[in-house]
Amino acid sequence: MIIHLKPNSLPNQIAQTAERLEAIYVKLGVKDVLIFSHKVKEVPESIADQVDEVFHFDNDIQLAAKSYRKKQAPIQLGKEQLGGNSQNTLMMAGPCSVESLDQITESASFLSGLGITTMRAGCFKPRTSPYTFQGLGQRGLELLSEMRTKYGLKIITEVKDSSHVNQVIEMADIVQIGTKAMYDQSILTACGKSSKPVLLKRGFGTTLQEFVQAAEFIMCRGNEQVILCERGIRTFETKTRFTLDLTGVAYLKEYTNLPIVVDPSHAMGYRYGVPDLARAAMAMGIDGLLIETHPNPAQAKSDADQQLDHGAFEELFASLGKVAMAVNRKLI
Ligand code: PEP
Ligand code: MN
Repeated sequence: MIIHLKPNSLPNQIAQTAERLEAIYVKLGVKDVLIFSHKVKEVPESIADQVDEVFHFDNDIQLAAKSYRKKQAPIQLGKEQLGGNSQNTLMMAGPCSVESLDQITESASFLSGLGITTMRAGCFKPRTSPYTFQGLGQRGLELLSEMRTKYGLKIITEVKDSSHVNQVIEMADIVQIGTKAMYDQSILTACGKSSKPVLLKRGFGTTLQEFVQAAEFIMCRGNEQVILCERGIRTFETKTRFTLDLTGVAYLKEYTNLPIVVDPSHAMGYRYGVPDLARAAMAMGIDGLLIETHPNPAQAKSDADQQLDHGAFEELFASLGKVAMAVNRKLI
């Protein structure tokens, strides 16, 4: 249950009341909001005269629910907008990892040459094996920062654990929480207290309910700028790396008020399927795409099999513009 309080209650008093009632108090814009478990159905007597509006839910998808708000305010990224009524589909492309100054410069120069405004690249890599490339860490963030200055790109990069969450929040324009970190409460809380947009990837073994509840952990701390990213889930299938859950995307579009991004690269795991999946997702009218492309995929230090070379990416980008037009969206 979400309660909007009437204006002019004192924040200190509301915080005390929230603690006593086992509710979460959050300020959303100018509104003082109390959030209870969905199981609480009655407004507590003690605050009855302070209540402005009450919203009931049948599960703990609350702030992110379409029944609470039809659409969140758009997320502003420089001059561009994502979500809201913008009809924009944001292309976030780039290599899996920052590997060197040369590699990331070549990537940034290529993407900005295509008019792409947002580059992705990881510095803290959540690898499956401890014996493979783990990312350049802080040095990688510095290189990304250089690229932002030199090419005017927005940067999306991921946080792997809470040891560097503040460094990533400070540097990134969009903070990416990866599939393996989706449940990490210290990351979710730190992102919730920040004012940076957060791209939250679906855990590959999580239900849609668990996924959106992870978004609630961020939103209930005051940061509503959450972007949901479907990147494939684990099924019985072994021919592809994961299974891209486009049915889940349809659910998220129908029942949540958050922008939705699809990552076909990690779902497929192989270059050959990425363009078709990207176009299929685009046809669903999503808010963004996250795609891996590398100047020399064969030499990539992570996710070499799935990264598109620049030629293939350019071809895909051109074809996506046409699909976007057909579904009344603008690829930016
Ligand atoms: C990535 O985007 O490079 C990444 C590691 O993604 P995921 O968390 O979806 O595996
Ligand atoms: Mn990757």
